[in-house]
Amino acid sequence: MVIRRTPVGSSSATIKARNISAVLLTLLRHQPISRVQLAERTGLSTTTITNLIADLIEQRIVTQIETQPEPARRRSVGRPQQGLCLAPDARYAIGIHIGVGSVNVALCNLLAQPVYGLSIDHPLDRAQGDVMAETIGMVRRVIGESGVDPGRIVGLGFGASGLVEPASGVNVVAPNLGWRDVPVRDQLCSALRLPVSVDNNVRAMALGEALFGRGKDVFSLAYVYVRVGVGAGIVVGGRLYYGGGAGAGEIGHMTILPHDGAACRCGNTGCLETLISEPVILRLAQQIAQREPEGRLARLCAGSTPSIEQVFAAARAGDSAVQAMLDERAYYLGVALANMVNILNPELIILGGILALGEDVLLPVVSETMRQCAFAHLGDKVRLETPSFYPNAGVVGAAALALNAFLYQQSEGFA
Ligand SMILES: [Zn+2]
Repeated sequence: MVIRRTPVGSSSATIKARNISAVLLTLLRHQPISRVQLAERTGLSTTTITNLIADLIEQRIVTQIETQPEPARRRSVGRPQQGLCLAPDARYAIGIHIGVGSVNVALCNLLAQPVYGLSIDHPLDRAQGDVMAETIGMVRRVIGESGVDPGRIVGLGFGASGLVEPASGVNVVAPNLGWRDVPVRDQLCSALRLPVSVDNNVRAMALGEALFGRGKDVFSLAYVYVRVGVGAGIVVGGRLYYGGGAGAGEIGHMTILPHDGAACRCGNTGCLETLISEPVILRLAQQIAQREPEGRLARLCAGSTPSIEQVFAAARAGDSAVQAMLDERAYYLGVALANMVNILNPELIILGGILALGEDVLLPVVSETMRQCAFAHLGDKVRLETPSFYPNAGVVGAAALALNAFLYQQSEGFA
């Protein structure tokens, strides 16, 4: 159970920390920006802004650049305008993304841009302890080989598969990896001596989009990820939404076919995940390839099990049976998104995983169905987009967990 509540009381230190957070987050969204504009956007006095910016410039987190005056002011004579920006290389964070059969580690700068990274593949049955030991070794290599001053690394973010308790940093269960109750934060913290933030990998991707990607300008967004499983990360007002039991976003288990649906691994029937996921699409595609041996898909995969790329390629090449199968999958996802729109009414839904890979063959039906099934015109106002950081969404999201802790002053990263 994760309970995060905003403290009611405030000491002068916490007020200063919150003001710094407000300034850093405003810079992130609106840079370059003047001191006056910063004061307007944050509601802080110009004196407070001047003092905070002086501190941040001294710590080299903020830098000043000359900006072009607005056209209306160009005729006025005077000094060029000073724009304030975050210095991208002032601080760094390390993102770790454990995928199904791969580990990706990247050092990202203050704007979550990867500057150095390593990836390895590992067999799915590899022992959890070995995977973590290798991950720790990769982090050490990334720090050493990047040439970055370790003192500038504010922390480490871990995007975990499956159910996670962010407060304790425990990966409670990762069904696709066979992990159970792994104290990820404690293991990484004791080995690497850095602040560690742990969350579910789809939530991490959602946060990455909200802070650094397409979600910078919206109040609410959902990041829907379809691969082996189906899940969503929800961000409201720049913060991840967890719900009472940290289970918000489990859309893979939204009931779509309560009576005639297939059994889901969760114990229910007709869940969204039984209708659209990579394994489901591959199983249906294989049936098409066997039924139509002269079809485009069968020729593309030449007798072997089709890959998801081959399935999408067959649809692009005009295989009508494959496209009809994908349209049906897309329809069910569209229904689920309409339900989500009616509950959450997000301004932006980002579609990641295989939805980004097959955007052109899936999105038309997803979008049309969502708009038709959502209440009134709610669906018309939702932007459906693909991820900003593809194919680095996993590590950028994980680094965003650590940068978020730094920006919100929740870690020891801010001196
Ligand atoms: Zn289920």
